[in-house]
Amino acid sequence: MATTSKSILIKNYINGSFQNPTSNQWIDNINPSNGEVYGQIPNSNKIDVEQAYLAAKSSFPKWSQTSLEQRSKILLAIADLLESNLDLFAKAESKDNGKPLELAKTIDIPRAASNFRFFANAITQFASESHESVGHSAINYTLRQAIGVVGCISPWNLPLYLFTWKIAPAIAAGNCVVAKPSEVTPITAYLLGKICNDAGLPKGVLNIVHGLGNTTGQAIIEHPNIKAISFTGGTKTGAHIAKIAAPMFKKLSLELGGKNPNIIFADCDYEAMLNSTIRSSFANQGQICLCGSRIFVEASIYNTFKNDFIARVKQLKVGHPSEKDTNIGALVSKPHLKNVMQYIDSAKKDHNATILCGGKQVVIKNYENGYYLEPTVIEVNTNQCKINQEEIFGPVVSIMPFNNEDEVLQMANDTPYGLSATLWTNNLQRTMRFTNELQAGIVWVNTWLMRDLRTPFGGVKHSGVGREGGFEALRFFTETKNVCIKY
Ligand code: NDP
Repeated sequence: MATTSKSILIKNYINGSFQNPTSNQWIDNINPSNGEVYGQIPNSNKIDVEQAYLAAKSSFPKWSQTSLEQRSKILLAIADLLESNLDLFAKAESKDNGKPLELAKTIDIPRAASNFRFFANAITQFASESHESVGHSAINYTLRQAIGVVGCISPWNLPLYLFTWKIAPAIAAGNCVVAKPSEVTPITAYLLGKICNDAGLPKGVLNIVHGLGNTTGQAIIEHPNIKAISFTGGTKTGAHIAKIAAPMFKKLSLELGGKNPNIIFADCDYEAMLNSTIRSSFANQGQICLCGSRIFVEASIYNTFKNDFIARVKQLKVGHPSEKDTNIGALVSKPHLKNVMQYIDSAKKDHNATILCGGKQVVIKNYENGYYLEPTVIEVNTNQCKINQEEIFGPVVSIMPFNNEDEVLQMANDTPYGLSATLWTNNLQRTMRFTNELQAGIVWVNTWLMRDLRTPFGGVKHSGVGREGGFEALRFFTETKNVCIKY
């Protein structure tokens, strides 16, 4: 298998083979830890997407007719191969994205393998309903049939993790796929193609086309015969996709942005809360859609929390992703760093906000052109400020005190987003009230990012439409047909 130590020419994976883009146009792939170009990726166009579609089409319905055991066996083989190539994949992911190598090793790649293993097993347990029409001598049964060719489009923050979160259920359900990873982080998707071949995935079942969102991605969403789109990314892009796909009546799953509240009551388990809040604020440089970027703290412990939190944040090491003691690696790209820093600047100009720590770019010896930023904590005194209303998607959190349940519940729900929420309390009545009333697709109580792959995942309001995870994903990737037989 190819190593990632030298310049890499990434190719499209179409019909089981690796191809140059038909236009022979390429995009630079940049290493965020040092700002250097270390490879090139195809700048694919409509023709490449059409080729990928035709390859997918030629494998359907054959793939959907393979036995569940056979499909499951291949998906398990992909999971095993990902695990046995853990180091290669983790290094590639860390280099492409800027995330600490340890994180890629312990979270991203293991989770990508788990995605395949989970859906390899789930498909063998997926069942449909039957309804006997008693008194009418009829029986209804429901078929859940593969859709055909589907499109999967994923972002850069958890590249292989989120790419496989879509591809695995799509393939398990019998579909053939045209997929596009983010152009910013293409490498592990490229390596996945090789693994799929080694695992015996038939040609054309998975096709990976690299390129820009507004050309390659656009060609996928506009394609009249790609019948469903599973998308994870920004809310603006999600709205654009919905506009294009809706008149063609495509099935749509949209996992979009978040501006998640982290609500801390004085009666919580303080140490556990503090440890998790450090993670929920800054894991993956704060570039996780589920990060708790708005921290609300009960007034009676606000000052204690503020001092302890800042002391802990100051201990976080911003460093090169490959170093073992690095807590915060590089942000994914120069434009993204600039964008995040603009938010920090806007907070400085806002009279309601105070930068309590961080806020500056970090220059690391030997990696002076990397995209490093200090973890930043901003004190705000209203939820109605830019910092609390817009998704920053970087190592930046806000903190502010609250006085009572009604006040914090109102503020927690007062954004356009509704992806996740975290609640820290040991009060049962309060837990029940908040879990009912928080406007979010996922609520964590006394924990954060604890994931069980069987559970539904997704957001409300501007955080998305539809649910991924478990059987929800298999339902999305199948078309439901009811059959009624009179006897
Ligand atoms: P974008 O919306 O910019 O991009 C996501 C993907 O869509 C990329 O592959 C992108 O390609 C592609 N794309 C862009 N424009 C189009 C288009 N016109 N047609 C089809 N595809 C297109 O998001 P980011 O990559 O910047 O990711 C960050 C965002 O993702 C954040 O808002 C974050 O909250 C969200 N996210 C949501 C999650 C969830 O589960 N709810 C999980 C993780 C992230 P390209 O990169 O080449 O432009």
